[in-house]
Amino acid sequence: MKDVPNILWLEEIRKEDIISVGGKGASLGEMASLGLPVPKAFVVTAQAFRRFLVETSLEKKIFSSFERLDVEDNEALENAADMAKALVMKAKMPAALRDDIRKSYKKMSDGELIVAVRSSATAEDLPDASFAGQQETYLNIKGEAALLSSVQKCWASLYGARAIYYRAKQGFDDNTVNIAVVVQQLVHSEKAGVMFTSHPITGESLTIIEGSWGLGEAVVSGSVSPDKYVFDQRTEKVVDTFIANKKVEIIANGDHGTKLVDVPKDRQDAQVLSDAEVAKLAMYGKIAESHYGVPQDVEWGVVAGTIYILQSRPITTIGKKEAKGMTGQKSSATIILKGQGAAPGIATGKVIIIRDVKDTGAVKEGDILVTKMTNPDMVPAMRKVAAIVTDEGGMTCHAAIVSRELGTPAVLGTKTATNVLTNGQLITVDGEMGLIYEGEVAHAAPAQAAISPQAVIGHAPIITATSVKVNVSIPEAAARAAATGADGVGLLRIEHLILGLNKTPGWFITNNKEEEFVRELHDGIKIVLDAFPGKTVWVRTLDAPTDEFRNMAGGENEPHEHNPMLGWRGIRRDLQSPDQFRLQVESFKRLWKEGYENLGIMFPMVSHPDQFIKGKEMMRGWGVDVDNVTLGIMIEIPSSAIMIEDFIRAGIKFASFGTNDLIQYTLAIDRNNENVADMYNPQHPAVLSLIHNAIQVCRSYNVECSICGQAGSDPKMAVWLVEHGISSISANIDAITKIREAVARTEKHIILEAARTKDAE
Ligand code: PEP
Ligand code: MG
Repeated sequence: MKDVPNILWLEEIRKEDIISVGGKGASLGEMASLGLPVPKAFVVTAQAFRRFLVETSLEKKIFSSFERLDVEDNEALENAADMAKALVMKAKMPAALRDDIRKSYKKMSDGELIVAVRSSATAEDLPDASFAGQQETYLNIKGEAALLSSVQKCWASLYGARAIYYRAKQGFDDNTVNIAVVVQQLVHSEKAGVMFTSHPITGESLTIIEGSWGLGEAVVSGSVSPDKYVFDQRTEKVVDTFIANKKVEIIANGDHGTKLVDVPKDRQDAQVLSDAEVAKLAMYGKIAESHYGVPQDVEWGVVAGTIYILQSRPITTIGKKEAKGMTGQKSSATIILKGQGAAPGIATGKVIIIRDVKDTGAVKEGDILVTKMTNPDMVPAMRKVAAIVTDEGGMTCHAAIVSRELGTPAVLGTKTATNVLTNGQLITVDGEMGLIYEGEVAHAAPAQAAISPQAVIGHAPIITATSVKVNVSIPEAAARAAATGADGVGLLRIEHLILGLNKTPGWFITNNKEEEFVRELHDGIKIVLDAFPGKTVWVRTLDAPTDEFRNMAGGENEPHEHNPMLGWRGIRRDLQSPDQFRLQVESFKRLWKEGYENLGIMFPMVSHPDQFIKGKEMMRGWGVDVDNVTLGIMIEIPSSAIMIEDFIRAGIKFASFGTNDLIQYTLAIDRNNENVADMYNPQHPAVLSLIHNAIQVCRSYNVECSICGQAGSDPKMAVWLVEHGISSISANIDAITKIREAVARTEKHIILEAARTKDAE
């Protein structure tokens, strides 16, 4: 560990110091550097804690007792925890460290400042190890003695039984886990609350502020119904105000702790924030949001007319009311697992672990499906459940795609869910943040209820020059997809129509059920076409890797491939399996004949223009007027990005980046492998370079260039794509609003810049 001092002041802290100051300390330091009004603070660093352990000879004692510990043995666990906590509490803090803390406390103010003392665990390979639940906070601490003892209490909280248990389960070596302590001026707020810098459900530019009298804990813990204000960042106006009857407030209790008291009658129905204060808060919120790049959940307080920003973290739409019904307990729910937030939403339910698809019969409505990895044959069970959790997979795997379309929250790639969770266990899944909480954690529904329908819907739809389309995989999502107002469907994955039938295409062919296959495809695609009258719908020909077919009827005839991702999938398979291709084309032909001129066909996994030409000629042979229908390709393989000009010469009418595959093939990162997920980088310069070049070639030939991979659902990427000239973006249903806003804002910037440049000439 490098030589970091015992104390770091907020102003000295940079993001990189997170390992020394924990997530809380780093985020406060970052906010201070943005110029946000953060109460003054210093951090007793993780290194100070480690020096304490070493100099008091506790390190060996504590960790050797943990080495032999069986965390499943409750009694042994409790004993070890009690012993470690007692050792930390009883040890005399080394004089130098004590002096450093004392001096810093004095420096904060000449008198005896009242402070909050907050702990923040850090681990060597996970700087903010808040998952372990050690988030002890001591409010209203005054005087050196109380401060030193609170710091020591925070340290001891690292060895709570629950914390030790979860670290063991997560495979953390306790000896690598440290704890930093933030000592911060306690703002005795006269009024306080929380702010969502953007709408927590829809992501729109509506800042929602909840506020009440006294300290913010009353709002955070849900002990009071707060006032609610909605500020529209686009018009810069307060668009909705709801004044609540605020019966109680939390205030400081003398020198120690806080107490809940009744609000005097004359203030109960009084408005907490003026419009000017709402606007100022919203401005701070925007600063934080644009700095962090994602909507923030901000805690604030006001004293004598001064606004303080107390905390800012990404919106989880969770946690505001988590202590409701748990009064007197910790105000932070326990996170027991982390993974990738693959489908947004929050759900609570009982765990059902499915180790074999044959057991899915046991899944009940409202359960939480926990499995190693979902398979297409699990879709019926996935429809029933409240949320999905997997060990494996990432943002672009089968489970992620289906969950998003079903609107079912999903956390994927947790690595250990099927081992750590147990059947029947009650958990809450946050599919946005990728977190699994123990027990029931109520959502921040009031933030949603705070907005009158007029406030949300009463805006004119945003018209963008870049088309914003939507991806669909299951017809039942078509209506939801259309309700987003998307400009068409940029990708309809038809393999899901077949995978849901639990029979491989080969099965239909060998069992003389060709007509059934054609009808299934025709009917499924028609549902989507009907939901988008007059708008283009690009239907992609079959693209399922062989392993996804394995468990189905006919799956026994699928070849065993070492790497199905690189194997017999997409157009390569169709060109070699003319019957399978012909049946798909038959369903398209029927739809064109029925007048669905908006139907376009897209070939997946093309690597050479010859494949496009061959596919087109086969279609011509089956009676398709190929020169007058819309045929295009996915750009999923670097070769097709590099050879885009040759594809255009071969007659494609459009091309769409399938970044899920393009990234994996450019970077050699298996998109479903959670072990390399952190290297799966959509913004890798090589990927961006391939995309940039292909866009420019398409533009020069006036060929529509689009994106339908998951990267198109990321607003930051959308900004980059618009700046680089993409013609359309096709995003997931849940991302349409934010993508449309990002696109609109970027287009306006471009126009503004052009006008300014012209003026300057
Ligand atoms: C892609 O590769 O980005 C894509 C959209 O296709 P899929 O996720 O179905 O492979
Ligand atoms: Mg693909």
